[in-house]
Amino acid sequence: MSNSLVLVINSGSSSLKFALIDTVVGDAVLSGLGECFGLPEANVSWKYNGEKSEYALSEGNHHQLAVDRIVALVEELGLKDDIIAVGHRVVHGGEKFTSTVKLDESVLEEIENLSDLAPLHNPAHVIGMRASMAAFPTLSQYAVFDTAFHQTMPAKAYTGAISRKLYEDYGIRRYGFHGTSHYFVSREAAKMVNKPIEESSFISVHLGNGASVCAIKNGMSVDTSMGFTPLAGLMMGTRCGDLDPSIIEFLLKKGWTQEEVFDELNKKSGLLGVSGLTSDCRGVIEAMENGHEGATLAFELFCYRVAKYVGSYMVALDELDGIIFTAGIGENSQPIRSKILENLKIFGYREDEAANAAARFGNKGIITQPNTPLAMVIPTNEEWVIAKESMALLHA
Ligand code: AMP
Repeated sequence: MSNSLVLVINSGSSSLKFALIDTVVGDAVLSGLGECFGLPEANVSWKYNGEKSEYALSEGNHHQLAVDRIVALVEELGLKDDIIAVGHRVVHGGEKFTSTVKLDESVLEEIENLSDLAPLHNPAHVIGMRASMAAFPTLSQYAVFDTAFHQTMPAKAYTGAISRKLYEDYGIRRYGFHGTSHYFVSREAAKMVNKPIEESSFISVHLGNGASVCAIKNGMSVDTSMGFTPLAGLMMGTRCGDLDPSIIEFLLKKGWTQEEVFDELNKKSGLLGVSGLTSDCRGVIEAMENGHEGATLAFELFCYRVAKYVGSYMVALDELDGIIFTAGIGENSQPIRSKILENLKIFGYREDEAANAAARFGNKGIITQPNTPLAMVIPTNEEWVIAKESMALLHA
């Protein structure tokens, strides 16, 4: 394993996810999560060799204390000297960052300057990156952006049908997210259909708690459903997705505060809002199978909206080599995939039931019948992309 490990960090406002990726075999040697930052129960938990452990953090700067704990942990496990780089996930790179970059003070400042576009994420990333730079002063560190893959979208895909001034003055446009996931699964899909990625086109459907669709032409993102923020596009676990903006004005006039409206649309809508039960897809399906009306509507709505996006993205492509399902729901939920394919029957999609049942829990595979248009399941691996991109820059 020597000198092949990249530490991947995803720092949030009250949590910090980490994984130590072996870049030779592609597996996570160690993975963990710091959470409840700012609260007395702040802790770091991790999994190593199949065993789970937990460590309570003392009072103080929990991002720094968590990263310090990771340093102590990799030292104890004898892994520290094998770490060659640190890769950080960053949600928003605006128009500034179109690919992975090496971290230095000016890059940190630029990421901080983009906080206007991602107020919940970018400041938290910078805190984690500074803590990591202090903890691993000799290692090169890199920022990998969720938005970067979508910077190839043409103006007709990223421009809002609003006055140009709003774009020029405030940068209001479609940015798109989940870029590392759409990038990864499209490369894996090209291998599956035995075509060079530069000559293949896919519609990638990332269905997790957050969800987005991406049209990928010759390996490049040409359109995607998340927008200025991750709230746009598909119905998600708790986010509403596309919605008439006048509803916001309507609710404000009804006396709702701005915070209440956005809390509703971000945290109480989607599967949770429509089912009235849960944001967890498994819970929705279980309730639907027991005849629950709200859960049934949530399931129908979710699958209909995904199919509508997939259908509309046919327009963005000249040909289509396959639809890719990925992330928690896309990789595991046979009924959701089945219903989406049924909704796409006008395009010729026909589910192969046995193949759809088999492609779950980490198993990839084609899930449509022979001689019908292709749909496939490919487990995503965003940490692997972050590790590989960091390593590529390190060796560049
Ligand atoms: P992610 O954000 O990619 O971790 O995905 C989280 C979502 O995946 C949640 O809505 C889970 O309910 C869903 N999920 C995970 N496993 C399954 C499963 N076996 N069947 C249906 N949904 C699942």
